[in-house]
Amino acid sequence: MAEPVKTLILGNGAAGIEAALQLRKYDEATSITMLTESRWLHYFRPKLVHFLAEEQSPEGLVVYDEEFYKTKRIYNVLGRKAAAVDTSSRRVTDEYGGVYAYDRLLIATGSRPFVPSIEGIQKDGVFTLRSITDAQKIRRYSEKVHQTVVIGGGLLGLENAFSLQSLGKKVTVVEFAPWLLPRQLDEAGGKHLKKLLEEKGLTFLLGAQVERILGGAHVEGVQLKDGRFIPCGAVLVSAGVRGDMDFLMGSPIAVNRGIVVDDRMRTNIEGVWAAGDVAEHRGLTYGLWTVAREQGQVAGLDMAGQPTDYRGSLPSSLLKITGINVFSMGDVKASGEIFEAQDNLAYKKLVVGEGNKPLSAMVVGDKSAIGTAQKIMGGRAPTEDFKKHL
Ligand SMILES: Cc1cc2nc3c(=O)[nH]c(=O)nc-3n(C[C@H](O)[C@H](O)[C@H](O)COP(=O)(O)OP(=O)(O)OC[C@H]3O[C@@H](n4cnc5c(N)ncnc54)[C@H](O)[C@@H]3O)c2cc1C
Repeated sequence: MAEPVKTLILGNGAAGIEAALQLRKYDEATSITMLTESRWLHYFRPKLVHFLAEEQSPEGLVVYDEEFYKTKRIYNVLGRKAAAVDTSSRRVTDEYGGVYAYDRLLIATGSRPFVPSIEGIQKDGVFTLRSITDAQKIRRYSEKVHQTVVIGGGLLGLENAFSLQSLGKKVTVVEFAPWLLPRQLDEAGGKHLKKLLEEKGLTFLLGAQVERILGGAHVEGVQLKDGRFIPCGAVLVSAGVRGDMDFLMGSPIAVNRGIVVDDRMRTNIEGVWAAGDVAEHRGLTYGLWTVAREQGQVAGLDMAGQPTDYRGSLPSSLLKITGINVFSMGDVKASGEIFEAQDNLAYKKLVVGEGNKPLSAMVVGDKSAIGTAQKIMGGRAPTEDFKKHL
């Protein structure tokens, strides 16, 4: 009997799992192996923010149990990191020397937190949050710490700050930009959000930059570029992410900011696809869960011989902080006709372009306006509907 076609997927995140499921739907025969650095079965990464704040077991984050994988005949190899890809012999080697032959390879290794080169960044007490293990380490260390500095006032930085505060810590967020969520909100929106979060007890230093982290072996504080000193026992760095693709060094797979893919998530090398945070499509890397899923599905379908085109996504973001409703979608710098309102409770803005096309929406502090904005941006409601919230 002929050997089945061997599919190897690197990474069991949103992109990897969706690809495996689509592939299995249309290809009963192929063998599917998922090789992953993480020692956990696929889990819902966005929930790590809440996991950081609440006493709960990591198993609660896991999406499918072992039985599920057995039924789908997806073979998980956990706790092993791909170290090299040889595209001519179609083999991947893991960090312990294990070798995996493939006929089809999907690289879905996601991203890693970007850590800026700040003096003292290697000290005990400096963390990033990407995995269950990271969250466990932060929780454990935080038990002996009263004050924490979060570097970065983006979505993840704010969510992390709020989680740490709910653990009873005094948290200061240091952000280089002059307002919060600079990629999702304009100045008015960012300022409004700052006010809401300050009311919840968070402290912000905007337009500020950490120059060095002070202390002996352990963190004792941070010093800003302008000379100010903030005492703290821990630092959480949330300064963006970078595609996890160092192991491709020396391989002919084309990379730029991510692994370069076409509309079917194919790389420049035949038999190799990429999807999710690690992929760069039409010059864009996204770093978003829904996009990773969508790209994974397209890659899985293509591997199964069911080609379908991915044409890019309009990024949308929701802040996961209880009681603070923030939504943003589209290009925050878009110009066009503006529908806007601001009062003490909320800030709302919709930008409409030619032909009444919605270009961007941002809402801070008004749940029902978020629902409408989502419908308008998704093409399920007319732009006029936004006026009822103004
Ligand atoms: C705390 C947190 C909160 C978030 N909240 C949101 C949110 O609210 N909304 C949103 O849209 N997005 C959110 N994101 C981003 C979202 O989780 C990612 O966009 C998504 O997980 C990307 O999926 P992926 O499959 O590309 O990669 P990942 O989920 O990163 O999975 C990649 C997997 O590959 C493994 N891996 C890495 N390198 C190797 C290697 N060399 N060999 C083998 N395996 C490897 C990793 O262990 C990992 O398990 C959040 C991220 C974090 C960290």
